[in-house]
Amino acid sequence: MMGHSYSCDRCDFEFCSGWSHHAGGLFVVCPSCAAQFTLGDGQSEWGPREGETLRLMALGPDGEEPTEIRAVIHILPRENDEEWDLVVRLNFGNVPCPQCDTDEKLIQEFDAGQSCPQCHEGKIERTGSCIY
Ligand SMILES: [Zn+2]
Ligand SMILES: [Zn+2]
Repeated sequence: MMGHSYSCDRCDFEFCSGWSHHAGGLFVVCPSCAAQFTLGDGQSEWGPREGETLRLMALGPDGEEPTEIRAVIHILPRENDEEWDLVVRLNFGNVPCPQCDTDEKLIQEFDAGQSCPQCHEGKIERTGSCIY
């Protein structure tokens, strides 16, 4: 399982995208408050099924804590998008961030130069790959 790693050029914010079989879910992050979650709790830790409903899991001090937020997963085709080589990419619709009161929707990737959700001053850069 692979993902893309991102970090901020000003602070210590880091995010790894993609599906992790350790976490049993897809890593997602709030672009407003930097809270990180996984979309998981599905039938397989190796990946979701098309149309499967997954649950948003918060990453608390004692591990994953289930939230009441669920999302139906659609697996996006990869073959025409080499940029996403080997990285699981899902369409999970609009999932609101349970940590903040904004209308921000959780994201699974950053655009190059996107502003940092933690310090709001730095810019997010893609720094490499994550292998799970
Ligand atoms: Zn948030
Ligand atoms: Zn930052």
